[in-house]
This record gives sequence, C-alpha cells and structure tokens, in this order.
Amino acid sequence: MDNAGKCSCEPSEVLFFPCSGGSNCGQIAHHAAVELHNAGRGKLFCLAGIGGHVKGLIESAKAAKVLVAIDGCPAVCAKKTLEHAHLPPQIHVIVTELGIEKKSGHLDFSEEELNLCRGRLEDELERQVEFIPTPTG
Ligand code: SF4
Repeated sequence: MDNAGKCSCEPSEVLFFPCSGGSNCGQIAHHAAVELHNAGRGKLFCLAGIGGHVKGLIESAKAAKVLVAIDGCPAVCAKKTLEHAHLPPQIHVIVTELGIEKKSGHLDFSEEELNLCRGRLEDELERQVEFIPTPTG
C-alpha cells in the first residue's frame, strides 16, 4: 500500500466485504468472498480500510456498482462499517440466517456450509447485478 491508501484493491463493479470475524460464521463469510473473488464474480475488498477511513479505499468503494456485505452473525459488523462510511451495501447476507450456528472462537466449517453461503451470494448477485465481470486470465 502507498501513502495515498492504495493497495491491490482497485475499483470494480462488485466488491465483497466479509466481516472475517473470529468465529466459524465469520470465516465462512470470508472464504465465500475469497471463492467468489477467485471465480471472477467481483473483488474481495478491504473492510478494515473502510473502517479506518482510508481515503483511497473509500473512493474506490464509492466507484463500485454493487457493494456486498457478508456478515457472520446478527451483529452485522461489515454492514455497520460500510454504513458508517456512508456506503450502504446493495447486497447483505448474514451467515447465521442460513441456518448455520455461530461458534465463537471456533474457526472450522464444513464444505457444505461454505457452499450454502456462496450459493446465497450467487443468487443475490444474479438478482441484483445486471453485469457481472467475467473472469480474466
Ligand atoms: S458480524 Fe458477527 S462474526 Fe462477523 S465480526 Fe461481527 S460479531 Fe464477528
């Protein structure tokens, strides 16, 4: 990252903001975002930079078409962080609302749980995104 607050995150049509919390559900949120990033469905972005009011990252997020908050539980930390920066998400998924029980301090999860979260996000993207970037390379 340079002094202007730029990092490998660049403006994109779709940005993913998982809470990446210290629980199974927070990690499901994180890994679902990683999988969608790797599939070319959008970009994993720097939620901490938004919370830290890093100017370059805020500007990049403002330039995006769809902001996706992925929270592990009803505390909705990712959504609150975006809203605090006046960046309300167009898509919001809460992992515990998918029927997955939160276990604080436990970071493990099953492939089935991850697929459930990823599938919900893909459904939401299909509903709300007119244009989804295609994978590059
Ligand atoms: S939304 Fe829940 S799991 Fe995610 S960081 Fe907040 S408290 Fe932790």
